[in-house]
Amino acid sequence: MLAVVAHPDDESFGLGAVLAAFVHTGARAAVLCLTRGEASTVHGVEGDLHRLRARELATAAATLGVATSTLLGYPDGALSGVCRSRLVGDVGDAVRDTGTDGLLVFDPSGVTGHPDHAAATAAALAAADVLDLPVLGWTLLATVAATLNAERGTAFTGHAPADIDLVVPVDRARQRAAIAAHASQAVPTSVLWRRLELLAGTEHLRRLRAPHRRE
Ligand SMILES: [Zn+2]
Repeated sequence: MLAVVAHPDDESFGLGAVLAAFVHTGARAAVLCLTRGEASTVHGVEGDLHRLRARELATAAATLGVATSTLLGYPDGALSGVCRSRLVGDVGDAVRDTGTDGLLVFDPSGVTGHPDHAAATAAALAAADVLDLPVLGWTLLATVAATLNAERGTAFTGHAPADIDLVVPVDRARQRAAIAAHASQAVPTSVLWRRLELLAGTEHLRRLRAPHRRE
């Protein structure tokens, strides 16, 4: 399984519990992260985010049991302006390098409202069309998104239960350890903590794409 994400921390803050669950069942997981997250306005520790966040990603991925993490250097905050075919090529390269037979991404909405998340998922879906791969999309229940937005003024997008394909019971221990590796971003004021509290031991996935042929 290859997780395609926009920023270092998306694999942990967003997909961490699901990735850990897949690894726990014996799947081999890899992460392709398209930017170095240098544009973040959150700066929980001293230092250059460009370098810090690369290290944080490597540590977090290892904590989740992810076998391979690849970090590219597209501009953080401007992923939707990058030529789609370049991103599709990068996803294709990562699929071939890792022997992937399925993709895990943020929901096409981007989940948190960050346009980079939607751009990363759009590239992954386009690559999956070329390679005929299944794609799972991580989403939130609409009620959880609405609660967060009401409490924190955020722009989360969720889905109604009828639009959710998989309800996955998760153990968050590895995810929480991976989150801790992202010290520059996992600040006490982050909405992340409230989201994890609301989600408790459950994550929600949508089947965004099914393969046409099965081998
Ligand atoms: Zn992100």
